[in-house]
Amino acid sequence: MDENCTFCKIIKGEIPSNKVYEDEEILAFKDINPAAPIHILVIPKKHLESLATMKEGDEKIISKIYQVINIIAEKQGFKEKGYRVIVNCGKDGGQEVPHLHFHLLAGTQFGDKIV
Ligand code: AMP
Ligand code: ZN
Repeated sequence: MDENCTFCKIIKGEIPSNKVYEDEEILAFKDINPAAPIHILVIPKKHLESLATMKEGDEKIISKIYQVINIIAEKQGFKEKGYRVIVNCGKDGGQEVPHLHFHLLAGTQFGDKIV
């Protein structure tokens, strides 16, 4: 936990969120400023700053996050149609909140392909 971290505050319930999934290690909630009809943030409850600061062993939680993404996609009914997952990392990557998060975007067909 990081005292000053917005997402740690969401995990602790100090900042309200619209939760869509929760277990002992992972929380998913709706993005406050959605970039798509469905925009969910999936985060580890452990405060990991970004992909770039991952340590040995952290890959387990990353792998679990992808499993959870599929669980959410199935539950919310967009697994078949498809979705996009984005992780912004660091300044050049456009990361604004320094708590690792996966953007799960769905509900439209995305046209602008970066890759
Ligand atoms: P990033 O630019 O990758 O760091 O993305 C941060 C995301 O967090 C943005 O899409 C914001 O809209 C979202 N965000 C920031 N504060 C909150 C909050 N309190 N509740 C939900 N989403 C938030
Ligand atoms: Zn945090």
